[in-house]
Amino acid sequence: MSAVIKRKVGRAAYKVTLDAGFTCPNIDGSKATGGCTFCDNTSFSPALRKGDPELSRQLNDGMRFYREKFNATKFLAYFQTYTNTYDSVERLKKLYDECMAHPDVVGMSIGTRPDCIDEAKLRLIQGYTREDRLVCVEYGMQTMHDQTARLVNRAHDHADTVRAVELARRFAPDVHLCLHLICGLPGETPEMVRQSIDECARLKPDSLKFHHCYVYENTQLARDWREGSYAAPELATHVGLAADCLERMPPTTAIQRLVGEISSPGVLAPQWGKSKLQIVGLITDELKRRGTYQGCRYGG
Ligand code: SF4
Repeated sequence: MSAVIKRKVGRAAYKVTLDAGFTCPNIDGSKATGGCTFCDNTSFSPALRKGDPELSRQLNDGMRFYREKFNATKFLAYFQTYTNTYDSVERLKKLYDECMAHPDVVGMSIGTRPDCIDEAKLRLIQGYTREDRLVCVEYGMQTMHDQTARLVNRAHDHADTVRAVELARRFAPDVHLCLHLICGLPGETPEMVRQSIDECARLKPDSLKFHHCYVYENTQLARDWREGSYAAPELATHVGLAADCLERMPPTTAIQRLVGEISSPGVLAPQWGKSKLQIVGLITDELKRRGTYQGCRYGG
């Protein structure tokens, strides 16, 4: 992805993660309550959210951190926490404007659910695109299987994802579209994961974040895992499926991530005893062993 950023904005840019105070239709009861079973429920409480409500202060703090640590000069505003299009177009505009007005911000990334986007919001986001900016929307597709989506209380179906992708291509053609997939969701077999990968490839995102399902403290999934009704994915299974994913995605799709969270203190399982870098190394080795490469099994 750093190559995509460099190509677009002409140099390295660091993502500053922001909590703009959004909630999620899966939390506030408009679609469901309790959130997705893998989502960290402790942070649902506003009192426990760490984010500073003042967006520009968050942005400046994040930029200072990267300037001091990495000599960074340019930044992307990353609207990551919860559902970052879940509000009126007017409020979204105010928040996005606030970040994009900073002279060192060369783009933004907006994470959202596919059922929380529409023409007006996409037209707004398209309005921020420019030759030398990277403006990205990230949809949580997670799986193409509606029975899994029901099992994890996702409260939207795959038709929502297909519709959201079509809307993005139509009303935000210059926006970089990223999809997220989760490997190892409850009840899913490796074959089901490969079906979701093929469907994701058919949707041809500009980039992909491929995560493994991890069990986080204080989630429904953690309770299921403790009771033994959910088993976290094995490392070898994840490595094999990540290699399958690379083979099946279009060669033009940038791969932003091949493994989910592993080292944060709240992660209970899996405990693979390896760093993200080591796991990516294993995935690369697996492709070498197979003699394959990204896109070699993409249907087109
Ligand atoms: S849609 Fe995202 S923010 Fe909302 S409950 Fe699910 S994982 Fe959490």
